[in-house]
Amino acid sequence: MYIIITIDTEVTNRQGCITPIEKTIYGEIGGQSYGITRIMDLCEAFNVKATFFVDVFASHYFGEDAIRQVCQEIQRRGHDVQLHTHPHWLDNKPNLCDYDLQRQMELIAHGKALLTRWLGKPPVAHRAGAFAANADTLTALKRNGILLDCSQFVAYPRCKLGKLSLPVNAVSEVDGVVELPVTSFVELQIGRRRKWRLLDVDADTVAEIKHVLCQAQRRGLPVVTLLLHSFSFVNWNKEGTRFWADHSDLAKFEAVLRFVRAQPHMEVITVAEFARLYRAEPERFHSEDVVPYTGWGLTLWRACRQFNKSRKNQALVALAATPFMAALIYGLACYFRQ
Ligand SMILES: [Zn+2]
Repeated sequence: MYIIITIDTEVTNRQGCITPIEKTIYGEIGGQSYGITRIMDLCEAFNVKATFFVDVFASHYFGEDAIRQVCQEIQRRGHDVQLHTHPHWLDNKPNLCDYDLQRQMELIAHGKALLTRWLGKPPVAHRAGAFAANADTLTALKRNGILLDCSQFVAYPRCKLGKLSLPVNAVSEVDGVVELPVTSFVELQIGRRRKWRLLDVDADTVAEIKHVLCQAQRRGLPVVTLLLHSFSFVNWNKEGTRFWADHSDLAKFEAVLRFVRAQPHMEVITVAEFARLYRAEPERFHSEDVVPYTGWGLTLWRACRQFNKSRKNQALVALAATPFMAALIYGLACYFRQ
């Protein structure tokens, strides 16, 4: 099974608070890098290459030189740069799928032209910002000669590719454009309701990632895509004034790389390598749609591990603890009554 490590490389713009490139792309904190440099260092330590989907339109805010340097540095080190489109830097609508076909074609043409100028070669793949692609996005890509899209996350509301009834994790093809999904899995299923998660180093535990990879491999999925961001190992406050390193997420990524490299049937490739392999032998990547399931045990384990990260985790742990506490109190009450 092939594993593709993808890093959405971008700053964030939440409620008008735009984070600096030094912090959320390079991750410079205390004289160390916790951003793309560190990600490349780690990948190289395990002898693998990664794909960086770079938000090229940020060049309209930070200047072309700043984003060009990011792309050129990644390419200089032998990693893969592909096109990531967050149109809010150019227009007033944040999602690519909010635009009509004509404007999507123009936006993708512009992104392609920027990368081609900076790197001396055109991108072969695209990921829409916030996975916000639709059927027109695939048409716009085709008309721009980009025949591989990596925007599909089936359960994400902003991703409109679900309307095409594409498989969740299997590679598919729509009118000549290949869709390579970001691998997702079901963490809990209650009746018909499924709770989805992305295979994301930031959000999942190492145990979940290992479980999903092993299940995908055992059930015959030919390729799995793992997600990170350039700021996966950086945390910051709401105001964007204080930044600190997330050593636990860094350790998770290292553990995942170590695990993958130790598996004889798993091989890390880049998106560009996938495009080449697919073109040469497409049937090799046609498979059943495999949707891994992690279940209560691993979900509770994550909630405990990341207890302080969200109220949801705290609520889940409290919910799980309630029957045990009730049984304990009941047991103690019975004991002392005797
Ligand atoms: Zn993005």
